[in-house]
Amino acid sequence: MGRYFSIIIFLFSSFFIGNNNERRTDDLDYSSKSKAIAFGKLNERNIETDSLPLYMQGEGILEPPIDISGYNNAEEYFDQLFHGKWTYLAAGYDFPVGKPDAKGYYIARKFMEERHLGDDFNSKAGGNSDLGHPVYAIANGVVTFSKDIGGGWGKTMRIVHKNMDKTYVESLYSHCDEIFVKYGQFVKKGEKIGTIGTANGQYLAHLHHEIRTEINLPLGRGYADEPTGYVAPTRYIRAHRPRW
Ligand SMILES: [Zn+2]
Repeated sequence: MGRYFSIIIFLFSSFFIGNNNERRTDDLDYSSKSKAIAFGKLNERNIETDSLPLYMQGEGILEPPIDISGYNNAEEYFDQLFHGKWTYLAAGYDFPVGKPDAKGYYIARKFMEERHLGDDFNSKAGGNSDLGHPVYAIANGVVTFSKDIGGGWGKTMRIVHKNMDKTYVESLYSHCDEIFVKYGQFVKKGEKIGTIGTANGQYLAHLHHEIRTEINLPLGRGYADEPTGYVAPTRYIRAHRPRW
């Protein structure tokens, strides 16, 4: 009896695991051909990490980028910063690569796959084929962080976006080869803010991209058991495409 029960459990669980994998590849609506490529590339070693536990080290990862002392919260600080900056409110989101729809890219490591807090965008051609390709601001906003912090991060940018409905989100772009924007700079959706890189030669070139619904958090370590304050970037962007 016990043996039959475990066989049934085994069959059930493999059914669910199989289904789950199938669903994860659907995050970006790419053709079945590119899904096959995506699966192949997951085995390509050295996209970010080869083994668990997965944590990125780096300089200054524990402090929020903006000192908000004197304000009740980060939103209050940014309300003041965005005051009168109508044209920099976010009115929709595009993808950070392959402007505007991530054309030519696939997700090498998805949000929460192996506790990953972002989506890793990689060129479908694989390897370093996307080295030096443009990285774009996903929406209008203000740059709150832009520097090379070394470690597992390299050149990293963070942008805070104030939406038309007054909610905030933050986007993060890491491992860049070059960065073209400065702390405090207001940017527009689709503006070229950097290029795809290898985090100073540590990985095959790709873009580590995060979207956070909790703004001004410390940088963190790129991986965590609980994604509190983070959302799946691809899903968020697809749910908030520009209406005009
Ligand atoms: Zn990543």
